[in-house]
Amino acid sequence: MTGSLLRVRDLSVAFPVKGGGLFPWRGKRMLRAVQGAGFDLAAGKTLGIVGESGSGKSTLARAILGLVPRAGGEVLWDGKPLGEEQRPEVQMIFQDPLAALNPRMTVGEIIAEPLLTHRPEMRKAERTEKVVALMERVGLRAELRNRYPHEFSGGQCQRIGIARALISGPRLVLCDEPVSALDVSVQAQVVNLLKELQAEMGLSLIFIAHDLSVVRHISDEIMVMYLGRVMERAPAAALVERPMHPYTRALIASAPIPDPVVEKARPRAVLEGELPSPMSPPSGCVFRTRCPLAQPSCAGDVPALERIGPDRRLACPVVERQAEAPPAFGVTGG
Ligand code: SF4
Repeated sequence: MTGSLLRVRDLSVAFPVKGGGLFPWRGKRMLRAVQGAGFDLAAGKTLGIVGESGSGKSTLARAILGLVPRAGGEVLWDGKPLGEEQRPEVQMIFQDPLAALNPRMTVGEIIAEPLLTHRPEMRKAERTEKVVALMERVGLRAELRNRYPHEFSGGQCQRIGIARALISGPRLVLCDEPVSALDVSVQAQVVNLLKELQAEMGLSLIFIAHDLSVVRHISDEIMVMYLGRVMERAPAAALVERPMHPYTRALIASAPIPDPVVEKARPRAVLEGELPSPMSPPSGCVFRTRCPLAQPSCAGDVPALERIGPDRRLACPVVERQAEAPPAFGVTGG
């Protein structure tokens, strides 16, 4: 993506974890939640991040915002390190909408709270005016602003979360599994609302989900993560129509198809085996214990995320070699 608003380079996150066994205080180990993640995001564009739970996608989002400490790498905002002064421009929407809202505050107070923090000089009447306008824009009746979060449905709570995220006029919203806790019928409404608001406000979005079928509808580019590492990154349509990494292929093959007849008839490529523990990831390629194409060489070096086209990155030398190989029935010289 050109003209980056957000530039993330080689970002890593590691948490110290107590050792196990009889002497848990001995041998503190590091859980490497994210390793060497990077991407560029332009104004008005959406980056989708997908992967199973434990892939590090939510930790990456929190590390971008500085909500968890970074072990390495950099996050640039308009070319400068992203710090506290840019925080009003970057907001977050969380997975569990009800849990993310303070149960002791009215909905109006919850939505207005970022203004009290970032625009303390604003008069109360102006704040209320903004809350009313935004509630109506996200599809909530403004007269409900004196009610409490538990009086709303999951979908309405996520609309409250969206209004709260947007009230300070951000340029980027990090959406951490914003529809995973919602009914399927409500998911599309919330995704469509985000798309409309993005177009109106020129927002950039980072949209995290474990379900590729949700991410593809909102993303310009998709990044696939597994055990803390980026496996593949490509424009959304290209990634879904021509996935290259074996993990991306498995994710697409296991994503449900909305048509029940097609869904029942198609062969299902199930992702074999359990996700390994991030405390002891496999050597070499972290996907090798579940990869149908794994070879002995995959246990060696960690595959680098290589550029293999104008806008695709891939961390699999085996597939890369196959893609570069001449066609099996090509015309040979003679
Ligand atoms: S490097 Fe090897 S194990 Fe990893 S995805 Fe490629 S083929 Fe599979």
